[in-house]
Amino acid sequence: MPELPEVETVRAWLAPALSGARVDQVTLKRSDLRYPIPTTRVQGLVGCTIIAIRRRAKYLLVELRDLDSDRSKAIMLIHLGMSGRCWLDVQPDPPQWLKHEHWRMRLVRDDQVCWLRYQDPRRFGALDVIDDVKSHRLLAHLGPEPLSPDWTGTRLYTETRTRKQAIKGVLMDARRVVGVGNIYASEACWRAEVHPNRRASAVSKRSCVRLVDAVQSVLKEAIAAGGSTLKDFVGGDQNPGYFQQRLDVYGREGQPCNRCQTPVVKTTLLQRSTFHCPRCQRR
Ligand SMILES: [Zn+2]
Repeated sequence: MPELPEVETVRAWLAPALSGARVDQVTLKRSDLRYPIPTTRVQGLVGCTIIAIRRRAKYLLVELRDLDSDRSKAIMLIHLGMSGRCWLDVQPDPPQWLKHEHWRMRLVRDDQVCWLRYQDPRRFGALDVIDDVKSHRLLAHLGPEPLSPDWTGTRLYTETRTRKQAIKGVLMDARRVVGVGNIYASEACWRAEVHPNRRASAVSKRSCVRLVDAVQSVLKEAIAAGGSTLKDFVGGDQNPGYFQQRLDVYGREGQPCNRCQTPVVKTTLLQRSTFHCPRCQRR
């Protein structure tokens, strides 16, 4: 599943190419993905110019404006779901439709034609056109961005004083902090030397500070590496080999801990595979 670093990587790839491009044509192969697609509103983007591409949690937010009629801006929301891929082909002729390719846009900038394409075999992704990020039903409840100054060790500590939930579950709860998936939560707990299953209210302030630092460093390294390798995900340049990040515990059951050589243990927490070092990360 594409996680925050993958989505941020896609955003960073698309942004310079899309900024200033005008939507010339929209083709939808179906009227729903995980949710219904507002087909009329999506078609209404024809003629609009892309101003910017931002990211909120794992949503790509493409800001568009109709520069001719001064109409108020619209935001196209794209989610990659479990297996989605969004990329750009620069060529004048329409590319062959791929299996599971559900929509595409023909874009023009400086007389150059490119195609923004979306493929999603499992169809857990989303395409929507929204007016306001803060009030949208998919976005309104979201917690702070993990890399923003709003998310601190003090905040994590304060918010978990009465929580009986496992700390790893808190890290993966989008109402507390967005975009920390299973792999990165496991890695962060290992770096911070906190047992993933420790009751959140029992995690010390010092450990909360370490956890926030660990989440941020893991995500920053993954973004720098272009995201971590995942079988369903191919990055914007269709070069999966680019996505390599060293993982210290995730997927390393039975192999020696990179800190103390104790074999890494695999458990299941909240129906997700969890990896930890039983010596470095005590309950
Ligand atoms: Zn260890």
